[in-house]
Amino acid sequence: MVNYRYLGNSGLKITEITYGNWLTHGSQVENDVATQCVHAALDAGITSFDTADVYANTKAEQVLGDALKGQRRESLEIFTKVYWPTGPGGPNDTGLSRKHVMESINGSLQRLGTDYVDLYQAHRYDVETPLEETMQAFADIVRQGKALYIGVSEWTADQIRAGAALAKELGFQLISSQPQYSMLWRVIEDEVVPASQETGISQIVWSPMAQGVLSGKYVPGKELPAGSRATDDKGGAKMIQRFMHDDVLERVQRLRPVAEELDLSMAQLSVAWVLQNDNVAAALVGASRPEQVAENVKASGVTIPAELLAKIDDVLGDVVER
Ligand code: NDP
Repeated sequence: MVNYRYLGNSGLKITEITYGNWLTHGSQVENDVATQCVHAALDAGITSFDTADVYANTKAEQVLGDALKGQRRESLEIFTKVYWPTGPGGPNDTGLSRKHVMESINGSLQRLGTDYVDLYQAHRYDVETPLEETMQAFADIVRQGKALYIGVSEWTADQIRAGAALAKELGFQLISSQPQYSMLWRVIEDEVVPASQETGISQIVWSPMAQGVLSGKYVPGKELPAGSRATDDKGGAKMIQRFMHDDVLERVQRLRPVAEELDLSMAQLSVAWVLQNDNVAAALVGASRPEQVAENVKASGVTIPAELLAKIDDVLGDVVER
């Protein structure tokens, strides 16, 4: 089963492995496979699910909502996000204005088939809208009971501090930050994590497996595995490019002995690695097939000894983004 961790300085517990459906639901995978993945997650003890209105231009929320139909709502933690346009566009169909936030939550709830989401997240920071306006809209959404908690995604340390202070003034709390974090992408460590620790916020980290790269399945000089994200012409292949360089892929192959020493697959090692950081509440793991979910959940509860953490740093060296 999967361990729970508190989300920020709140009483909400989420599964430290949370299932996310970016690029898969409503896009790369058929709906029946999407449903199988969600059920594999539930069977393995995952109760927290992350999506966004913009994923597959709203289809991902719908697919997730359908797959969760019939589940006891109180036993699930459902997260979604607001920021990007999901309609034909227009001056107000984007960002974090009161208008866009208040309208977007209604669409998300409808597609997810629920009266409330557990966590509503600002998908990015909106430099064009006063932060006070956004935070007031979030405060009202919480008061209306449409979202129980509020979080942010890819905000800088200063933005997190300012948002947290305003939320406090308005009588609610920011409890989470959703940044990219993996062995290959450690940008949050110097500033975002300390700012979050100061303000009672924890991280729900995305692409902990570097979009599948850290599973070790992309071997330099070999054909791309069929059905993998790197071959997904609906968007995945483009998104994964940032990691698809021979120097990165070669270093990743050299992590195999570390995984073997712990009796883990490389995929499990990558998920366990982000969970060694105390400020991380959950690794947001994606899957294109149910067997991956079953494999990945075994990363819950793993401790990586300090000497192996140091070995990972040595092996990866300067291919890590910091
Ligand atoms: P991961 O790094 O976990 O990559 C998941 C992908 O890796 C899967 O779809 C699958 O792709 C492959 N994979 C998973 N398990 C295995 C395995 N055991 N062996 C081999 N390959 C495996 O995360 P994602 O990039 O999918 O992101 C996870 C979630 O994070 C998203 O769903 C979303 O919720 C969130 N996110 C948030 C963002 C934000 O801006 N806030 C941005 C991006 C993501 P395949 O089989 O096709 O190769």
